[in-house]
Amino acid sequence: MAKYKRILLKLSGESLMGKQSYGIDTERLNEYARQIKEVHESGVQIGIVIGGGNIFRGLSGAGKGFDRVKGDQMGMCATVINSLALSSALGAIGVKTKVLTAIRMEPIGEFYSKWKAIEAMENGHVCIFSAGTGSPYFTTDTGSSLRGIEIEADVMLKGTRVDGIYTADPEKDPQAVKFSEITYDEIYTRGLKVMDLTATTMCKENNLPIYVFNMDIVGNLKRVMDGEDIGTLVHN
Ligand code: UDP
Repeated sequence: MAKYKRILLKLSGESLMGKQSYGIDTERLNEYARQIKEVHESGVQIGIVIGGGNIFRGLSGAGKGFDRVKGDQMGMCATVINSLALSSALGAIGVKTKVLTAIRMEPIGEFYSKWKAIEAMENGHVCIFSAGTGSPYFTTDTGSSLRGIEIEADVMLKGTRVDGIYTADPEKDPQAVKFSEITYDEIYTRGLKVMDLTATTMCKENNLPIYVFNMDIVGNLKRVMDGEDIGTLVHN
């Protein structure tokens, strides 16, 4: 039996780059698709949010002179590109998907609603929620918190390239120690950069646990669903 019945999986756009410095690495994309298929076949209902950092981020655009709101809209479009890529990769291996967009853009995807999403997941589709929240000044982490809460997911699984939350950045500090679990409050008091504060607060206030794990190791999504302790659980 899988540990969770309905999950919201957050994938970062940056991870989709794989070994590249920009865009989509098809090898990484296909690995993600196979991992998702493996879990989907066990009957788990899956909603996915993908970032857009491999293509465009509003904040870095603003640093180069772009209007912030237009830059964020470009970032949201980047998440749609990634969502279509993942939908295509899943379709190629026989997984039914539905791309829902936070901004109207039929026929690229249907306009998001909670009930549309739940109905599609109950009918065996993997739902991909694209364009974040649809509003500027937010991130896809906040988009995932929002969608996770709305679809009544049991957990938000945050797939990263690190295997959990550490006392410091493990890529910079070799003394950093990993948490098996941690509270939202401890994240604030220790100033840990797990997600932005808006996203973390939404999860805290609505009791949506977050599980941070390394999605770039093939098989890890299944391991999380099997209840293996390979990452960090964030809870109240
Ligand atoms: N974005 C936005 N509103 C949202 C979600 C995303 O404006 O609700 C924009 C924002 O510019 C962000 C970009 O889309 O920088 C890509 O998303 P994010 O940085 O979260 O991607 P990730 O870091 O996960 O790759």
